[in-house]
Amino acid sequence: MNINFSERYPEMKAAFGFEVDQILFSEQSPFQKIEILQTPGFGKVLIIDGCIMLTERDEFVYHEMIAHPPLFVHPHPEKILIIGGGDGGTARECLRHPSVAQIDLVDIDELVSQACLAHLPAIAGALLSEKVRCRFEDGVAYVKNCPERYDLIIIDSTDPISVGEGLFSREFYQNCHRLLREDGILVNQSESPSWLPKIVKGVHSKLSAIFPRMHFYQAHIPTYPSGHWVFGFASKRYHPVEDFQQDRYRSSGMKFRYYNQALHAGAFAIPTFFQELIDDAR
Ligand code: SAM
Repeated sequence: MNINFSERYPEMKAAFGFEVDQILFSEQSPFQKIEILQTPGFGKVLIIDGCIMLTERDEFVYHEMIAHPPLFVHPHPEKILIIGGGDGGTARECLRHPSVAQIDLVDIDELVSQACLAHLPAIAGALLSEKVRCRFEDGVAYVKNCPERYDLIIIDSTDPISVGEGLFSREFYQNCHRLLREDGILVNQSESPSWLPKIVKGVHSKLSAIFPRMHFYQAHIPTYPSGHWVFGFASKRYHPVEDFQQDRYRSSGMKFRYYNQALHAGAFAIPTFFQELIDDAR
């Protein structure tokens, strides 16, 4: 076996590698290096600055889980802001909800969307929907000056390094809080409590100081560091499990590959070591 791509995990002094059949796309934008690789094990893989963003094999887990838990808690999600998410996977899942009338998607790098539209159209095709308004600018600056109000903000970011760093800051979260309607929900990808505990602790302490409700929920994403990934759920009013919209879920007829009703509740049950990590951060 010829391992010809590996993502390095410096915190763990470890790496995850796989074979590559072909490099379909490789360009340096003004912000980051973007690659799309064809692989025998994972299908096409989107890499940014050496980190796996998605693979065709398991992207459904991440995109279903970042979108449907808040969408089945908010009683009438109509207007959504996605920060990052230029690959289109999160927009694709949001568009499955008939109540969603408008999605503003703000990604700093138009080249991510262009590359995904060319090589991953089943994921990026959602960007072409008339309900999706794409803006290519810094999400940190966008939320500072934005006059709009949203029911749901989804932060589908890269890791908190380089251009993604500001999307994990207190000021950014405060501006998101201001942009949310009085019963709005914010969800963000929050990395791994198993291998990146400092990042998760930081997300918790910042969001829980701003929102009255702050919970984490988990998903198993095999190609992300450790496979144990969490999302922050910060809410002005709704409880993530008690306010689950069971009737809407049942009548929707939607079929998922990962998400389901039992998992919705189960995902918010977190392991003891993770609870202790958060308690310790207070
Ligand atoms: N699913 C992925 C993960 O967790 O690894 C995230 C994928 S998505 C491609 C991340 C997007 O965030 C990228 O397209 C990147 O351009 C965008 N991004 C990074 N920093 C940003 C910023 N400051 N403002 C807006 N978008 C940003």
